[in-house]
Amino acid sequence: MPVTDPDRRTEARWARELESMLGPGQVLATPSARKAYDCDAYTIDKSKPSVVVLPETTEQVRDVVRWCNRNQVPYTPRGAGTGLSGGALAAMGGVLISTKRMTRILEVDLPNRCLRAQAGAVNKRISESVAHAGLHFAPDPSSQTVSTLGGNIAENSGGPHTLKYGVTVQHVLALTMVDVDGEIVQVGSKVPGGPGLDLLGVLIGSEGTMGVVTEAWVRLTPNPAKVETVLASFATVRDATQTVADIIAAGTIPAALEMMDEGIMKAVSLAFGLVYPEGAKALLLIECDGDPDAVAGEMRTVLDICAKHGAMDVAVAADEAERQKLWTARKKGIGAMGRIAPTIVTQDGVIPRSKLPEMLDRISEVAARRGIGIANIFHAGDGNLHPCMYFDDRDPAQVEAAVAAGEEILEVCLDLGGSLSGEHGIGVEKIGLMERMFGREGLDLMMDVRRIFNDGDLCNPCKILPNQKGCVEHMRRWRGAAW
Ligand SMILES: Cc1cc2nc3c(=O)[nH]c(=O)nc-3n(C[C@H](O)[C@H](O)[C@H](O)COP(=O)(O)OP(=O)(O)OC[C@H]3O[C@@H](n4cnc5c(N)ncnc54)[C@H](O)[C@@H]3O)c2cc1C
Repeated sequence: MPVTDPDRRTEARWARELESMLGPGQVLATPSARKAYDCDAYTIDKSKPSVVVLPETTEQVRDVVRWCNRNQVPYTPRGAGTGLSGGALAAMGGVLISTKRMTRILEVDLPNRCLRAQAGAVNKRISESVAHAGLHFAPDPSSQTVSTLGGNIAENSGGPHTLKYGVTVQHVLALTMVDVDGEIVQVGSKVPGGPGLDLLGVLIGSEGTMGVVTEAWVRLTPNPAKVETVLASFATVRDATQTVADIIAAGTIPAALEMMDEGIMKAVSLAFGLVYPEGAKALLLIECDGDPDAVAGEMRTVLDICAKHGAMDVAVAADEAERQKLWTARKKGIGAMGRIAPTIVTQDGVIPRSKLPEMLDRISEVAARRGIGIANIFHAGDGNLHPCMYFDDRDPAQVEAAVAAGEEILEVCLDLGGSLSGEHGIGVEKIGLMERMFGREGLDLMMDVRRIFNDGDLCNPCKILPNQKGCVEHMRRWRGAAW
């Protein structure tokens, strides 16, 4: 049985043993350090780890996992903690394995356009390290200035350019992982398309429930020859969503097709002083990239469709500085919401693109009925919604309303033929809705697959699949800790 309720003396012993194994400064166990790691960016549920460890190598991760196995202590992998579904929550306490010190780019193979990095390498830093060669790492979550390769792999992260370039699984060639037995295993190969079962496909997106990734070989993508970026404002949300539907229906796949509503505009104006046209209710950020002639053709289509739907203002970036300015609302929008309310929970659901107008109406309805604020910022081209619920978590009634609103929105996504998550994962947040989406048989099948990699209760317990022992009791505690 996992040790989930250690007393203080036991925790102090754990910290001593781990520090003597790893080295001075590689273990954090003070009350303030444990508090700092009690949640990820999904701040509703909280649970303190007993100890946080900061390994620097694959071998050190292996030693920690073996120590946890010997002592029956649960452990949770963690990157930058920007996850939005509680995946890096130390759900049953125990050891939090942070990859904060595993940030090295280990090998760059320019002729074969790939690179090997440690799991704690920051996403943006990977692209910066090969910018001189005109290459980049394509997955670009909006958290990319801090989120890590390991977190991106565990969540199969996407980003604004997912529409054209795909999500993380399309850009990872091979992984080094410490499995739940404490063995170092290699999965995949630097040469793509090898024979055998696609184990990378199973592991990527498994939210750290099947082992701790320590290194990966990733593909590098050539930077596009030409990039054109447009920010268009609309008088109604429906005009904007219809523009999205028509652009895709016209056969144009922009590199990015992102939408922000009035709530996000207000936050961004307050935070960065940007001014949007009076009366604008929605913004579309549209980017086309690639061969210059193809981009010119795509831009003509995009601008025609914006005009057809009565765009109030269309700003085309003249240079890189202007492009970055147009991206501000999208890249900084969620952070800027901190100007509006003390607590923000960003939901993540997917719907067929054609249902966008109806879905946004339903979200407004839910917000009004539940009495909380919801602003929308999302990957419109993928039908991947991010309703951003804002409220004050010092008031338990508001927390309850936000949780209920989030669940209701996800139920609507399912009713409209969509899914529970486009990129933020299930974590602890959506675990209760998994059966509604997959049915009992679907979940049992997934559980069978998980058992092959992880048949125990120690590695990132209580995440994704809802039938691990003890999770229900713990769930009550996490919520209690937030209030
Ligand atoms: C402002 C903001 C914007 C965001 N925008 C996007 C976006 O555009 N697209 C998107 O997809 N997501 C987005 N996210 C969500 C989040 O940034 C991503 O899920 C990201 O990949 C998490 O990386 P991380 O390093 O912070 O991981 P963490 O939050 O630390 O962990 C996330 C999950 O990965 C597991 N994990 C972490 N490291 C490892 C490892 N080495 N081995 C095994 N498991 C591991 C954890 O256990 C956890 O389950 C956003 C978040 C914020 C706060």
